Amino acid sequence: MGPLQSKTPFFAVSLFCDRYCCCFLLLLLLVSGRNGYYVGADSPLTAISHDLYRSSGTLLDEVKALVGRHPEQLTMEVMKAGDPGYLAEVTVVTYSRSGRDIGNSTFRVLLSFGQHGRELITSEVALRLLYALSEETKVPGVDPTYLDRVLDDLVIKVVPMENLNGRKLVESGELCERRNGRGVDLNRNWSVDWGKKEQDFDPYEENPGTAPFSEPEAQIMQKLAESFSPHVWVNVHSGMEGLFMPYDHKNSTPGGSKFWAMKSILEEVNRRHCHGRCIVGSGGGSVGYLAHGTSTDYMYDILRVPISFTFEIYGDLEAPSKDCFRMFNPVDAVTFSSVVNEWCAAFLLMFEIAPRRLGDTDGGRVSGDYGDSSGGLISESGGVAALRGGGAKVEGIELGLQELKTYFRLFMMSTVVLMFMFCTRISRNRSRQTKFGPLPL
Ligand SMILES: [Zn+2]
Repeated sequence: MGPLQSKTPFFAVSLFCDRYCCCFLLLLLLVSGRNGYYVGADSPLTAISHDLYRSSGTLLDEVKALVGRHPEQLTMEVMKAGDPGYLAEVTVVTYSRSGRDIGNSTFRVLLSFGQHGRELITSEVALRLLYALSEETKVPGVDPTYLDRVLDDLVIKVVPMENLNGRKLVESGELCERRNGRGVDLNRNWSVDWGKKEQDFDPYEENPGTAPFSEPEAQIMQKLAESFSPHVWVNVHSGMEGLFMPYDHKNSTPGGSKFWAMKSILEEVNRRHCHGRCIVGSGGGSVGYLAHGTSTDYMYDILRVPISFTFEIYGDLEAPSKDCFRMFNPVDAVTFSSVVNEWCAAFLLMFEIAPRRLGDTDGGRVSGDYGDSSGGLISESGGVAALRGGGAKVEGIELGLQELKTYFRLFMMSTVVLMFMFCTRISRNRSRQTKFGPLPL
């Protein structure tokens, strides 16, 4: 970007052009494949690191053994569904510190990991979280007395590996497989806006199935969520770093007090455990494409789960497009450990703050429809709102020449800032995720 110009209009034009030059240069870089996010097909593919990652069988055996050692806090069931040609099993672990049954006095949390087969790291986070809840393993930076204070009134259901059949395909060598065992994307098989295809629809990545809930895994999860009636739902994925609220199928967030509750939780998680790196906003407004038929949109719109999230916990944006294991999973021990510990701590934080933030909304702290209408990218909306309020003080009094000049300068500056933000939004949304390669959400 060139030096600032002394004349505002020239500055604006220069800035506008520079943004597009940046976009153009970025596009050239991507197409050239030097750093190969979308290209780089010649690069060697990274194999699953068995030193770091458990196989699906080992991981689920470990879950079962852990539950067996803590029958007072943990229980487990294996839910099954399917037809003669295709069967699915989903393991569900229930944590209740006080051993209480599900009832109105409990705060209920439902977490799902491993909905996409290639996102192995998410199931490792699930396992570590279960170890932390059972107090067999401590989470670095988390006070051991924390669990005593936070978890008494919670019932938490954890699905450590929603898509076991898809995961087995990945383990057999199909490292880019995200769909279930018969080629359907489980995050497109739910009924909200099901089957809608955007212009850039990728049939390999996003096959929505033959009908809403055609897939047994989705049937099981729907039944589980309906019977459990959680206050919090989190669908945990990898492929990028992002914290998303509804909606995935449109470029906006819900309105009202729930928006503020979800926003404040996501921003705190981002600040404390994603270290400000995560994109925060609606899935559809932030990830760079719209997704139809997703779990999170169904949880929010149909089951009325007041806090419904999708977390994207890790992504290597430098990985070549076909190097899926590296793109979706940490490949070295230090990063692996850091991701697992940070996100485990993030869930523990959420268990503490979510009941409070949801309670705040019931107390009427926020009223009215404050949904984000600026595209669902929360992290950039505050500045726009502040600027919108800047011109409200003109009250009809006579302004001297000096004041007029001042207001004119302010107006021009506001225009320039708004233009800058607009261009940044466009360039970010374009560069973040264009559907040339494997999708995270
Ligand atoms: Zn995913």
